[in-house]
Amino acid sequence: MKKKSLETRKIDRFFKKMDGQGLALSYGDVRLRTGHSEILPREVNIESRFSRNIGLKIPIVSSPMDTVTEAKMAIAMAIAGGIGVVHKALTPKKQAAAIGKIKHYLNAFISDPICVNVFDSVSEVLKMKAEKDYKFYSFPVINEDGQVVGLVTRNDFDFSSSPTDMMGQIMSKEIIKADANTTMEGAYKMMMKTRKKILPIFNSNGSLKGIYTWADVKRIISGGSDIYNLDKNGSLIAVAAIGVGEDLEERMELLSREKVDAVVIDTAHGDSKAVIAAIKFCKKYHPEIDVIAGNISEADSARNLIKAGVDGLRVGQGPGSICTTRVIAGIGCPQVSAVYNCSKAARGSGVPVCADGGIEFSGDIPIALAAGAQNVMLGKMLAGTTEAPGVVIYKNGRPLKSYRGMGSLGAMLDNKSSRERYFQGEVTIDKLVPEGIEGEVDYRGDVDVILNQLVGGLRSGLGYVGAKDIADLQAKADFHKISGVGLKESHPHGLVSIKDAPNYRAEKFS
Ligand code: IMP
Repeated sequence: MKKKSLETRKIDRFFKKMDGQGLALSYGDVRLRTGHSEILPREVNIESRFSRNIGLKIPIVSSPMDTVTEAKMAIAMAIAGGIGVVHKALTPKKQAAAIGKIKHYLNAFISDPICVNVFDSVSEVLKMKAEKDYKFYSFPVINEDGQVVGLVTRNDFDFSSSPTDMMGQIMSKEIIKADANTTMEGAYKMMMKTRKKILPIFNSNGSLKGIYTWADVKRIISGGSDIYNLDKNGSLIAVAAIGVGEDLEERMELLSREKVDAVVIDTAHGDSKAVIAAIKFCKKYHPEIDVIAGNISEADSARNLIKAGVDGLRVGQGPGSICTTRVIAGIGCPQVSAVYNCSKAARGSGVPVCADGGIEFSGDIPIALAAGAQNVMLGKMLAGTTEAPGVVIYKNGRPLKSYRGMGSLGAMLDNKSSRERYFQGEVTIDKLVPEGIEGEVDYRGDVDVILNQLVGGLRSGLGYVGAKDIADLQAKADFHKISGVGLKESHPHGLVSIKDAPNYRAEKFS
């Protein structure tokens, strides 16, 4: 019997027919057929996968762009159940620090806790905290032999009498020791009983294995973080983009020390020798880190990357809102067909596909997933949020934020990694060939407000198809190919003007 994942789907017939006519399609070209439904949108399950070993509570990922994702966005995305991929235009050190910040944002169990020394002063520790942007105040205190001799928590800092006080003077020496097998539930009970806000866990040889911290253990045990996208230790999932340039080795080493969960090999042409070599390097030297690679848009490319050992595929060459690759280089495949072709090639391999770029409306998300993707990656839709890097600028009183392609002239001039993404070396400004543009988007407030609308639209889409989850959507989905008239009919029409809705901008109206 064939595996379910290899079964023929309704969309296979649809795309075969389109292919027969030489047609490749994008989001505006198709709509999902509605089906008999016995499920309400609020009941559908939208959990999905980012890579072989990393799940998603919502199938939405923010793009590794310098105007979209740094630590703040990645934290907000993981808290909402998605993932934010930290861009690679940061130096390896700064990017690793961003990953550390995400990993330490919640502290249910910290396997390599930041320790302070008995001789460190209050001011030195506070300075280190500010530099690393750590929000927590709980640290194990170690002596010169590296043994844990005490703990400091927020109270100890608050009640210290002088910034020159040493950790050894303000620490609590009373340490409740728990052994390496202590579970989260066990830690919760011990902390309740002893009223201690951090619980160090020791290996049998007496070395420190890690610490549990109260606020996050309590939140997880009480179910308050059910939507958070967490690793097995209760820390937020953290993912970084990497390139194929000379800093690959150093970057991977620093990211691995910060316990990055996955890396995305971020290039404009994923089916290339350099990317395949980078996949092999990462899998050989850092097998614990999942590797997603791209970008690609053809089935053969998907097969090549799967053969090289990837854990996830990133699909999209040219659909991005800031992208000019299709018109500058004349390449690419309309996005829904690209997603379908690559996903079909990946069926049965366990390697999920990310549909990257070109998402304009929440309704594009169920279309991308129906075509075979496991998640979508967004740039423009998230660039105008508070959590995206950059400040709000006002033009004629209209609040805006900058958004630019990583292959735009500005990004390539600012970042070596952007030049590498487009395989351009050290050339002068007049020789750079941009494949993206720089612009602005409306400031849209906090990211969770946008995500709420996107998730609402996705749930609604599944409800209309009658699908209980994403696998069911992929099994049941079928498309209508629509004409220009059909697309016009799909949008508001025939009114003199319209007001902005939370999920539809009046400027789309014509
Ligand atoms: P958006 O969501 O439509 O804005 O597309 C975002 C995607 O565009 C990113 O995730 C990248 O894959 C892609 N991208 C980013 N910068 C550039 C560029 O300069 N040229 C082409 N594509 C780009």
